[in-house]
Amino acid sequence: MKNIVVVGGGIAGVETACLLAESGNHVTIIERSDKLGGKLNQWYCLFPDFKKSDEVLDYIHNRLKNFDIEVKLKSVVENVEPNGNGWFIYTGNVRYAADAVVLATGYDLFDATRKEELGYKIYDNVYTQADIEAKFKSGNLKTSYGKDPERIAIVHCVGSRDEKCHNMYCSKVCCVTGVKQAIELAKFLPKTEIFCFYMDLRMYDKHFEELYRSAQEHHNIQFIRGRVSEVSESSDNRLSIKTEDTLSGRPMKMKLDMIILLAGMEAKKNTLATAKLFDVETEESGFLKSKDFHLGAGILSRKGIFAAGTCISPMSIKETIENARSSAFQVNEYLKSL
Ligand code: SF4
Repeated sequence: MKNIVVVGGGIAGVETACLLAESGNHVTIIERSDKLGGKLNQWYCLFPDFKKSDEVLDYIHNRLKNFDIEVKLKSVVENVEPNGNGWFIYTGNVRYAADAVVLATGYDLFDATRKEELGYKIYDNVYTQADIEAKFKSGNLKTSYGKDPERIAIVHCVGSRDEKCHNMYCSKVCCVTGVKQAIELAKFLPKTEIFCFYMDLRMYDKHFEELYRSAQEHHNIQFIRGRVSEVSESSDNRLSIKTEDTLSGRPMKMKLDMIILLAGMEAKKNTLATAKLFDVETEESGFLKSKDFHLGAGILSRKGIFAAGTCISPMSIKETIENARSSAFQVNEYLKSL
């Protein structure tokens, strides 16, 4: 029986761990927080089908029950030492032997306070998409002044495709997240006007384009091509934005009651530290660098160390699960060669 350590207990980590345990390996998950499931715990429902996030969380918790996987919560990898073809991994005083390691450390949401001009944490009614998921969960979508918002703007590409933030890449899933949230808001608040301010709309996967069409045709969401340059607050507590409609070439100002910033995905800060410990390469963006883009995204620069999920690049929940399954396959292939 081979020993495998999976670092990170989000969806990618748990799915990979279950598949590796199913193939007869002894698997340990090391997770720094106090529960499994990662960021999915904060989500209300998922695109494009509005599946409740809890259903996916139930899936991973039920799946875990089928296997004898050691789960170490509130634990962090502090040191790594070579051990023959494998490693000794230390968390506090505990040592784990590993023949292979899977890094599944996830992502951080871009810190929207870095875009000071957009008013996050300065004005009460400026939120990120993650805050709005929490509001959906609580069922309270009122403004800070206790009223249903009359007008909401959803601002795309916050901290992604942005040279000033040093994030040139597209975070891939925020466009469809914005469209999903716009539809949910329209259902919760049928009298509210909802605007999406975008640079390009990237509806890359199955059913995404249909969701975008439905947002326009059935929910009256208005899409304006333009980048919001400034958010301010007026004396009546309403928000005001400055932007340009780049299709008509006209500058625009608009009064609003709520703004939702679609913050991009960034490499987690501790992914860099973990990458250093395991001596694997990262991209300039901080995401883990795959050995071959086409022939195995989960294979890293060092033999025996693999990756799964959003520590490699931005991806949806569906893609994260698919990626975890492919990484588990790569690990099993590697173990056969030992
Ligand atoms: S997915 Fe859309 S909102 Fe997100 S970075 Fe890409 S273009 Fe911008």
